[in-house]
Amino acid sequence: MSLSSNHKAKGFWGNTFTKLKSALSKTKEVMVDSVIPEAEPEQISQLTPVLVEITESSDNQSLSSINAISSSSQNTGWLGRAVTIDADFLDDLEDKLIKADLGLNTVDTLMEHLRQTAKSKAWTGNDVQSFLKDEFSKMLATAPDYKLRIEDGKLNIILVVGVNGTGKTTTIGKICRRLQKASKKVLIAAGDTFRAAAESQLEIWAQRSNCDLLRLASGSDPAAVVFQSIKKAKDEQYDVLVIDTAGRLHNKANLMAELSKIQSVIDKNANGANFEALLVLDATTGQNGIQQARLFSEVCPLTGVVLTKLDGSAKGGIVFGVANELKIPVKLIGLGEKVDDLQDFEPELFIEALFD
Ligand code: GDP
Ligand code: MG
Repeated sequence: MSLSSNHKAKGFWGNTFTKLKSALSKTKEVMVDSVIPEAEPEQISQLTPVLVEITESSDNQSLSSINAISSSSQNTGWLGRAVTIDADFLDDLEDKLIKADLGLNTVDTLMEHLRQTAKSKAWTGNDVQSFLKDEFSKMLATAPDYKLRIEDGKLNIILVVGVNGTGKTTTIGKICRRLQKASKKVLIAAGDTFRAAAESQLEIWAQRSNCDLLRLASGSDPAAVVFQSIKKAKDEQYDVLVIDTAGRLHNKANLMAELSKIQSVIDKNANGANFEALLVLDATTGQNGIQQARLFSEVCPLTGVVLTKLDGSAKGGIVFGVANELKIPVKLIGLGEKVDDLQDFEPELFIEALFD
């Protein structure tokens, strides 16, 4: 079952696109607008593309310098006008994409494709825009399984991991609300037993979404919470068990040991369950997220990423880095602190919102 497709068809998310667009406005500014400035309409009509030729630079750097043979239209508007794709243009574009947090490897690959594709062609601003749009779509297609899987007729376990403060507990609250609205019987396991506040926070979310919560005494072994919650979920035929965890990265070895213990409890006791391990990443932290993903994937078989705090972040380009470098699909995106501020990640919609 796709959680959103029905809701979307029925308008459950209402102004999904508007909200996404507004959340992505800063990322768009950095990643798209600054790269592809608007042309004045009256200027577009006068435009004639120029021929572009790529020549190896004399100092034999791997970067080709690309020179326009004619620069007759250099003073006209941008989007429909011929572009001089020269070394300066490429450097500038590269800088901007790095700032938008696509990640160095991802930007390298993209720039290489641009050099190849634009070679010997007459390009306009529109061509650059379509090129970027295509490249971004292709990147997201490398991790295509982007729907959160909830299967009917069996127990579904959603393990939620990530560094403290990224938005795990909030995301769990949002997910549970959606599941509850979809008439699922949901149990939440309070696996962050380290901070009493975390459990109370979870309790509030559980109450708001009308879901059950299993918690043990503060300081209990999180693996014990997971063990008991799996037992309860099975005995009482819950549809979904959502597991919250701690994320004290400063105590990395302990955290990883704790998570791998939780994982092995799940492996041993939840045979046959549908399993999702979601890594929650804070979009405002940028490339650090890629490191976090590598670390967590060593102990958990991550099935997806939840990218939170996209609202207002200028670093939404991390979506492409995650897809391109980690091949882990972004499944959900957080667009605010409220219970309804969670959306399915839909690659086409995301790209559309960036370029619209
Ligand atoms: P945890 O430590 O990973 O469980 O993180 P929390 O769920 O406690 O969230 C940490 C902070 O991030 C809280 O203030 C949340 O309200 C905030 N937060 C979570 N998700 C989002 C989001 O999508 N957008 C914004 N703006 N804030 C968020
Ligand atoms: Mg928490």
